[in-house]
Amino acid sequence: MAYERERAAAVDAVVKASRLCRAVQDRLVAGSTLQKGDKSPVTVADFGAQAVVGHLLSREFPDIPMVGEEDAHALRDPDNLLLRTKVMDLTRSVLPDMTDDEVIKAIDYGIYGGGPKGTHWCLDPIDGTKGFLRLEQYAVALALIEDGEVVMGVLGCPNLPHDASKPDGDKGCIFVAVKGEGAWWRTLEHDGHERLHVSDIADPSRARLTESVESGHTAQDESARVAELLRLGGAPVRMDSQAKYAAVARGDADIYLRLPTRKDYVEKIWDHAAGYRVITEAGGKVTDINGRALDFSLGRGLANNSGVVATNAALHDHVLAAVRAVLR
Ligand code: AMP
Ligand code: MG
Repeated sequence: MAYERERAAAVDAVVKASRLCRAVQDRLVAGSTLQKGDKSPVTVADFGAQAVVGHLLSREFPDIPMVGEEDAHALRDPDNLLLRTKVMDLTRSVLPDMTDDEVIKAIDYGIYGGGPKGTHWCLDPIDGTKGFLRLEQYAVALALIEDGEVVMGVLGCPNLPHDASKPDGDKGCIFVAVKGEGAWWRTLEHDGHERLHVSDIADPSRARLTESVESGHTAQDESARVAELLRLGGAPVRMDSQAKYAAVARGDADIYLRLPTRKDYVEKIWDHAAGYRVITEAGGKVTDINGRALDFSLGRGLANNSGVVATNAALHDHVLAAVRAVLR
């Protein structure tokens, strides 16, 4: 299989970072420290996850740079000593031998700017920070980009049920896709891979829509009008993070809409790269709201695109037409 070494290292890194995030969230569930509006637990986990992934990947592939959402700037500020100490302790709970300097370096490994040439990683250490704090969905999202094209995506979704029809059952899923070779999933706990497929629903009235919980991230009023035009049956399933891409990839939903809330917002590559490859390899389709392919070659942002439309492929043209009609 292509990218065998990269895939093994990426899955290992995402599994370890997902476990780190889950451990922080378990402490939140235990109820000890979270005060309303206190974002510090997710900040610590965000830095810790980027440190773990950055360290493992840079050690294995010293020549492949990384575009990461975070950098270590805030951790160098003497006013943030408590945050820094917590990040160090959390990172060492997964990789006990890392020194403080190595943790800082591993986080700063994510400062690469991306672009059209060469190979680089792309990481969102915790996508869906609001979902993390609500104890709902979030994802560790890692992709490999080669000459502006996403060739591999790995999504860790620690809170996603193994089986969507059993929401109270076991949770924690890892999704893996390599260009041209399909998409698979495994549990967070156990290795072993099962093939993923999008649904085969071609009748819009049977389709299920997923979108962001946050109305600031997608225009929910407009997506409701799209749903009406398509005569979708049920209410949208709202979830944070690229778990939405995973839901379409395994057929729990058929349409993921992300409609711009403002003209000047540029989507970030780390919010879409891994999910894009997972859906595509599961047989689905991803474009922006104008039907254009997502262009990952422009650095850290998707500056040539506007919003996202992801579907099981069979529904794509219907959905694009409805989006066009609503946004006209
Ligand atoms: P979601 O969990 O799907 O709601 O998406 C979370 C991501 O939305 C974050 O990682 C942010 O990078 C991104 N985001 C922030 N502001 C906006 C915005 N105005 N429109 C779209 N996405 C945004
Ligand atoms: Mg994100």
